[in-house]
Amino acid sequence: MNDSIRNVVVVGSGCAGHTAALYTARAKLNPLVIEGHEPGGQLSLTTLVENFPGFPEGVQGPELVENMRKQATRFGAEYIMGHVNEADLTRRPFTLSLGKDTVQARTLIIASGASARWLGLPNEQALIGHGVSSCATCDGFFFSGKEITVIGGGDSAMEEATFLTRFATKVTIIHRRSEFRASKIMLERAQKNERIKFLTDTIVEDVLDAEKKEVTALKLRNLKNSKIWDFPTSAMFLGIGHIPNAKMFEGQLDMDQDGYLKTTHYVFTQVPGVYACGDVQDRRYRQAITAAGTGCMAALEAEKFLEEHGG
Ligand code: NAP
Repeated sequence: MNDSIRNVVVVGSGCAGHTAALYTARAKLNPLVIEGHEPGGQLSLTTLVENFPGFPEGVQGPELVENMRKQATRFGAEYIMGHVNEADLTRRPFTLSLGKDTVQARTLIIASGASARWLGLPNEQALIGHGVSSCATCDGFFFSGKEITVIGGGDSAMEEATFLTRFATKVTIIHRRSEFRASKIMLERAQKNERIKFLTDTIVEDVLDAEKKEVTALKLRNLKNSKIWDFPTSAMFLGIGHIPNAKMFEGQLDMDQDGYLKTTHYVFTQVPGVYACGDVQDRRYRQAITAAGTGCMAALEAEKFLEEHGG
């Protein structure tokens, strides 16, 4: 790693981070990308991506994100493994601490994403991309004509379930309580949908079948009568929320009540020279293409800032 002050440091290596790196590298700003604890971001957790323009047959998520990295590297972006655990944004250059190492930056692009919440079941991680998914928009199509499940009782779960009825013949929403956190309108829309059924006061104890590398059933437990049973299904979609990876900027950057970074004009934080893009600041669209788009915007703003303030 070059220890001098960097013109641009990008935190995160998903779609937004790679795009910001590509643009700033092509502007000859020699960006440094700190990869974070989930290199590649959420794309690295999906299989076939069919809604990223330019790939008529679709593209595997990990391949897409790896190609973005290669493209940015070709123009001089430098990548290091590491995770930012503290930052000082009170003066320029900004200082980032990565355990024992520190990095100084004239501009900072935060693209650290949001991590899907998982249930922590024994077989869950092994079946991600094989019927376990946290993204209905990405993976719903693969379950056309099947019976599937959605976990959660908030707006995300209602939205995902409603969306998934475009493909699935039956969607069962499994929720741990009998009251719902979802807004009335979203809940009612789901309740009125004939393809959606509800199983309340029920938790998932495990997902089967890791050996077959496909989801065949969920092991469920009713919290009221303690009944345990196997519920046949072809997929389990998690709608239990996301956690934005922005904790290291707490107290320095404005966040909403759930910890997403607040931005104006798409990518500006309240600190001049610090930009945020992708899922860490976007709870609404959360798509690969929108993350890439805001990554581009952040890069163009960083470039402009350096022109005005000296790079
Ligand atoms: P949320 O409102 O926090 O709801 C999460 C749901 O998952 C809750 O029902 C919660 O159950 C359940 N849950 C959490 N951890 C669980 C676990 N370990 N096991 C089982 N269930 C678990 O999250 P969200 O639905 O993603 O929404 C987040 C925010 O985005 C909200 O403000 C929402 O309104 C907004 N949003 C809006 C839209 C829209 O307007 N189109 C769409 C999506 C999200 P409990 O209720 O028992 O805690």
